Amino acid sequence: MRKILVAGNWKMHGSEAMINELLGTVIDNAGACEAADIAVFPPFPYLAQVQSLAAGSPLKWGAQNLNAHTSGAYTGEVGAGMLLEFGCSMVLLGHSERRTLYQETDRQIAEKFTAARNAGLTPVLCIGESLTEREAGATEQVVDRQLDAVLENTGIGGFANAIIAYEPVWAIGTGKTATAGQAQQVHAHIRDKLSALDGTIAGQLRILYGGSVNGSNAAELFAERDIDGGLIGGASLKAEDFLAIYNAAGQ
Ligand code: PEP
Repeated sequence: MRKILVAGNWKMHGSEAMINELLGTVIDNAGACEAADIAVFPPFPYLAQVQSLAAGSPLKWGAQNLNAHTSGAYTGEVGAGMLLEFGCSMVLLGHSERRTLYQETDRQIAEKFTAARNAGLTPVLCIGESLTEREAGATEQVVDRQLDAVLENTGIGGFANAIIAYEPVWAIGTGKTATAGQAQQVHAHIRDKLSALDGTIAGQLRILYGGSVNGSNAAELFAERDIDGGLIGGASLKAEDFLAIYNAAGQ
C-alpha cells in the first residue's frame, strides 16, 4: 500500500537551537514514521546535527542542492559524496528558487540528477510552472520540458526509486495552494507520461505536491490518487504545523 511522504524543505532557515527543538519535537511525536514517511532538508551546515538527532530513527534527511562534479576547484559547492558522509539519502534538485534566483537550467539540473543517482542518493526533482505559464495554458508543456531534460540524460531508468515534487511556482510561499483537483491533474499527467515509457517505474514513482501545504489542506491533497505526499516549506519550520500535516497523512 502507498505510504505518504511528508518532506520538509527548511530553505535557508534554522539555527542549532531551533533545529534541536523542531526536530526533537518531530522525533518525539512522529519518529516512528507510522502515519507517513518523513524527510527533512536542512541547510548544509546542519546536516551533521540532523544526522546525530535522527540516527537510528526511520526519518530520512538530505540536502537542498548539490554540485554535479564529485570534487574539485568549485568554491562554495558541495558534492554528492560529501552528503553521503552525513547520512543523507536524498537531495532536492531544481527547486524553483534555484531555477529562478540562481538561473539553474533544465540541463544543469539533469546533470545534478545524474550525479545524485550515480552516488546512490534519491533525487527529489522539483518541477512546476509559473503563473504566467499556467495562465497561458502551458503547464503540461513546462513539466514535460523539465522531465525531458532528465530523461535525455538517464532514460526512464533514472526515475526508478526517484521522487518528483510538482510545485507550481505560484503556490510556493504564497498561501495560494493548487486545489486538490488541479494538483491531481498535473500529477496524473506526469505519471501517464512516464508510464508510456515504463509502467512499473511510473507506478512506483512517488510524486509529491508542494506549494502552501498546511494542516488544513493536506488531507484533501493526499487523498488524491496520484499525490503521494507533500514537499513542505513554511509549515515545516514549526513542529506543530509539520506534525499536523504528518497526522493528515494518516487519515
Ligand atoms: C517549498 O519551498 O518547496 C514550498 C513548497 O514552500 P511552501 O510550503 O512554503 O509553499
